[in-house]
Amino acid sequence: MAALMKAEVLCRATGKKLTNIRRKVLEAVWDSHAPIGAYDILAKLNYGGGRTAPIMVYRALDFLMVNGLVHRIASLNAFVGCAHPGDEHAAGFLICRECGSTAEMDSETLNEALDTAVAARGFVVDSQVVELRGLCPHCNEVLGKLAPGGKGHTHAR
Ligand SMILES: [Zn+2]
Ligand SMILES: [Zn+2]
Repeated sequence: MAALMKAEVLCRATGKKLTNIRRKVLEAVWDSHAPIGAYDILAKLNYGGGRTAPIMVYRALDFLMVNGLVHRIASLNAFVGCAHPGDEHAAGFLICRECGSTAEMDSETLNEALDTAVAARGFVVDSQVVELRGLCPHCNEVLGKLAPGGKGHTHAR
């Protein structure tokens, strides 16, 4: 898995250790196609009789967050793998309220705007994740077709 290889390389470069549990948690996050909660990660790891303790999952998630390998989406209390680890970036997520999919935005403009606004207030940021809720292109199209006169349907009938 490309994401795991990247994590491996990043950890080696910074002298951090991607331990077995950290790797498994990262794997579970990337395996999931939607943001995944800590308890669902735990259930995955313990599927088939594992004995991983919740605290181990939380510690691994902390490590992965601090090192920019996963992001926490606060409004969902769930985690997603970072699409571009190793780059300083403000994480921005588009979260679909219908299908639960998320897309990470890679926006220089967003980074710069946030940096400027925050610096002006002399504030030091530990983590910043911008969450935008709405409809993904797919759901928007489907719902637009279902709702009579809905958006996304401009043909005359
Ligand atoms: Zn990211
Ligand atoms: Zn959707």
